[in-house]
Amino acid sequence: MRDLTQRVSVWMADRANNAIEPGSDLPAFDTPLLGCASGADPLFGMLKQDIGPQFYWTPQEAYRLAFPDEDLEPGELSVIAWVLPQTASTRAAHRKARDMPSIEWSRGRHYGEMVNEGLRRFVVEYLARRGVHAAAPALLPAWGRALSPRYGFASNWSERHTAHACGLGTFGLSDGLITPAGKAVRVGSVVARIALDPTPRPYTRHDEWCLRAAKGVCKACMKRCPAGAISEAGHDKQKCKDYIRGVTAPFVEKEQLGFKVNSCGLCQTGTPCEAKNPTAPKGGRGAAG
Ligand code: SF4
Ligand code: SF4
Repeated sequence: MRDLTQRVSVWMADRANNAIEPGSDLPAFDTPLLGCASGADPLFGMLKQDIGPQFYWTPQEAYRLAFPDEDLEPGELSVIAWVLPQTASTRAAHRKARDMPSIEWSRGRHYGEMVNEGLRRFVVEYLARRGVHAAAPALLPAWGRALSPRYGFASNWSERHTAHACGLGTFGLSDGLITPAGKAVRVGSVVARIALDPTPRPYTRHDEWCLRAAKGVCKACMKRCPAGAISEAGHDKQKCKDYIRGVTAPFVEKEQLGFKVNSCGLCQTGTPCEAKNPTAPKGGRGAAG
């Protein structure tokens, strides 16, 4: 895992792989954080039951979509997840935004996700060169969305829930993943046929690093959301989606990039959890660095 972490850092340091837009000297993301979990971790089965037993994938199910001829036990698999922190300059620009996303954020949402896709491919290919079969569930042709009985629309492989299982953070009131590098991040993962030592999960609750859940004291993301999609009850996915599809995506097309991007993320900056775990002791980041 240490070797992979190093390789990923080197790959991300190359501006040809990690740029805020093609040809830019500015990175889309800071140094990534990596974590991993066993494919046999019971949390994956619990997530399946909670999110959607009919459609949500366990690591074994995702892997077998890529390698249908392989028989294997869940314990032969590891799930590797990463967190890509938004840069300080993207966060600073976005902090000033009110009802509409900053152009820096919109670039990060569009081109940054291409970086994330490239990283998924890089990790799969890197492992393949070492004789390890791996697949990125989010890149599988069968990846898609369905209706979760409990949570409304949901994908059949959630990168955020996977990163949570891999010791990389807990959920905030706004549904974002609060990681040791904060909530202004993008996340990705692969499932690989290799045994790795799991990253410890330094939390017992799914929302332990959110100040609202831990101490009942924060409303910052509620105040940041221009759509009123975050309340004491949590994140209203439909309101959020309606605002993004109806307001910010057309804004990005007309005023920023010339095409629609599902950019918003105002609830990810200007909050105490923007760039750190706000419940960590002062000076600490809270987990795997
Ligand atoms: S802004 Fe406050 S309430 Fe919202 S997710 Fe962050 S810590 Fe939790
Ligand atoms: S992404 Fe935008 S609309 Fe959705 S909850 Fe966050 S601030 Fe509100």
